[in-house]
Amino acid sequence: MRIDSEIKLDYSDVLIRPKRSTLSSRKEVSLERTFRFYHSKKVWTGFPIMTANMSSCGTFEMARFLSRYKIITTFHKYYTVGEYLEFFKTFDNPDYICYTLGIREQDITQLHKMKRSGLLEKFSFICIDVPNGYLQRFSNFVKSVREICPDHIIIAGNVVTNEMTEELILNGADIVKIGIGPGSVCTTRKMTGVGYPQLSAVVECADAAHGVSNGQGVGHVIADGGCVYISDVAKAFCGGADFVMSGKLFSGYEQSGGKTVKRGGKIYKEYFGSSSNKALVEFYGKKESHRASEGRYCLIPHKGNLNEFLQDLFGGLKSTGTYIGARKLKEFSRRTTFIMVNKQLNTSLAGFEQGV
Ligand code: 5GP
Repeated sequence: MRIDSEIKLDYSDVLIRPKRSTLSSRKEVSLERTFRFYHSKKVWTGFPIMTANMSSCGTFEMARFLSRYKIITTFHKYYTVGEYLEFFKTFDNPDYICYTLGIREQDITQLHKMKRSGLLEKFSFICIDVPNGYLQRFSNFVKSVREICPDHIIIAGNVVTNEMTEELILNGADIVKIGIGPGSVCTTRKMTGVGYPQLSAVVECADAAHGVSNGQGVGHVIADGGCVYISDVAKAFCGGADFVMSGKLFSGYEQSGGKTVKRGGKIYKEYFGSSSNKALVEFYGKKESHRASEGRYCLIPHKGNLNEFLQDLFGGLKSTGTYIGARKLKEFSRRTTFIMVNKQLNTSLAGFEQGV
């Protein structure tokens, strides 16, 4: 047994120190980024935010809406080939959609079907998503998907440490998804004791990924989960994240998935973890006896139209840029000094929940 006594940080443990700036307006801050990827060599330009691949936000409706803003929708795993065929009759914007698969037998069968029917070519991104990216089986799987899909931008995760970030990139991932346990409906830390404070995980894994280079592209990371406020998205970018993924921030809106529920005169939308009992029963028909649920179910008070949230998101991030003197999102991490705060004193956000 070993104890690592270095303190690791969550988004709520820090604030961003303001810096002298020559910017005169937040309008001067550009939030678009262009990346060239390690394996696929594809060049992508957009606003590097993505929905989680969850049934509440990784939906066709969200893709139609968010692609207009150059935001990526990562589809949930439960759409069938038939549903995709129907969807692509009226949608053609590969850069802002991501196909998701797990590592079950049925996932690889569907991947082959998607490829044979030409549907995979409708996506720039493929996300191979498992809760625990540390299994050797997972790295092998990433390698085999890379062989099948040499030109796609492949995302793989989740992990939280530098050595596994490097390992996944070397095995075929262009982007590694970072986060074990920070999700708002995730109970992994409670059920297993496993996890890593999210800001430190992002800082350490981003550093590792950016150091893996082949002269044409470097590795990239996605900060996945744990963003409660727009400021957390800013902190993730300031910590070195290339992309930020969120389920919570994109759920509960008119455009989101999830059933609408009326209770006590109020309107809510469902939001539940992909390994909650609700998801396992709804999408796989049953919870296998060896599996404990590592996700929970909750109702989010209806937040209205997603458009308003997007205005706040763009406005908040541009304002962060002006406070630290960053003209481009790319400069956020270079211009950042985090200051550690006493959580009990950092109460100015308490009671203010984004969009609620
Ligand atoms: P949020 O934005 O709600 O804080 O986090 C979303 C992320 O939580 C997802 O992208 C995914 O990585 C993670 N997640 C979603 N469902 C579950 C679940 O049931 N269990 C666990 N452990 N993580 C989940």
